[in-house]
Amino acid sequence: MSSESRPNVDHDPHADCTACGAALAEQRLALQTYPEAGENSIAGLSAGGLLYCPDCASEPVELLAAWDDHAHPPIDADRSIGGGYREIRDRCSFCAEELGSAPVVGVELYRRPSDTLPAYANYTLCSDCKEVFEEFLANVRGR
Ligand SMILES: [Zn+2]
Ligand SMILES: [Zn+2]
Repeated sequence: MSSESRPNVDHDPHADCTACGAALAEQRLALQTYPEAGENSIAGLSAGGLLYCPDCASEPVELLAAWDDHAHPPIDADRSIGGGYREIRDRCSFCAEELGSAPVVGVELYRRPSDTLPAYANYTLCSDCKEVFEEFLANVRGR
C-alpha cells in the first residue's frame, strides 16, 4: 500500500537530524514507530519519525544491529499498523521475552545500505524494552 506515511529515505532538503538538529545533507537512518501517538507510543517523537545524520546514526545503528528483525507486518484497512506488528511477532525483538497480551511498539527502519543493518527492517518491542528504547533515544537526542 502506498498510502502509509513513511519517512522519506531520499534526500529531503527540509529535514533536520532528530539528535543534533543539523540540516540533513545526508540522511543515514530513519525510524518510524507504531503506534505513532497515544499511550503506548514512544515519548517525544514528531510525526515524521526519527531521522539521523551520519554522525548521530552510529549509536542507534549499533543498538538496532543487536535486535532480531522480522518480516513486514500485515497491513490492511481493518487493522492499525501497530496491530500488524502485534500479529506477526510473539517475542520481543530486543529481549526475546514473549509478548503476551500487553501493548507492543513496532519499529520500522529505513537506511542507506552500508554495514551492519539492512536497508529496511521491522522490529517489535515489549513494553519494558519500549521504555529502555525511549530512554536511549532521549540520550541520543541530548547530544
Ligand atoms: Zn545529527
Ligand atoms: Zn523486550
